[in-house]
Amino acid sequence: MREHPFTAVAADQMGEGLVAVRAGSELDVDVRLESVHEGILVTAEVDAVAEGECGRCLIDIALPVEVEFQELFGYHSGEAIEYEVQDDHVDLEPLIRDAVVLALPFQPVCRPDCPGLDLETGLRLADHPELVTPEHSDPRWSALAGFQASEDNGSDDASDADQQREER
Ligand SMILES: [Zn+2]
Repeated sequence: MREHPFTAVAADQMGEGLVAVRAGSELDVDVRLESVHEGILVTAEVDAVAEGECGRCLIDIALPVEVEFQELFGYHSGEAIEYEVQDDHVDLEPLIRDAVVLALPFQPVCRPDCPGLDLETGLRLADHPELVTPEHSDPRWSALAGFQASEDNGSDDASDADQQREER
């Protein structure tokens, strides 16, 4: 059994979504290689950082990505063997890539309760709490809003009546 911690540099971007591990960024890999009858059993832990945008408010974010996987590399190809030892080496790149891409969130957020953007102004609500939508504001105001609406209707009716009187 052999343990081998190392740092790898991503040759290509990993992931196509709102956040991705960018080309050139570093991945910390902790790998354990065990000799078994059929080949080499690889257990790996990978730490990386995904960069991109918050899915709600679009600011730049960087999220830690931690993945683990285990895979058997066989000395000879066989039914249950997907990966093979090639020239006494195991190629971890496709395994690291698959594990990292699967771990990336589809809806990354800058913080779990990110309120997103204001629908009218497009401003980031976390920076402008005064714009937060009515359902989040003080419920006592909703009664007042209803009162104002009915009062507006009343004045409309009155003006209609005035117009009718003028037409006569
Ligand atoms: Zn956000």
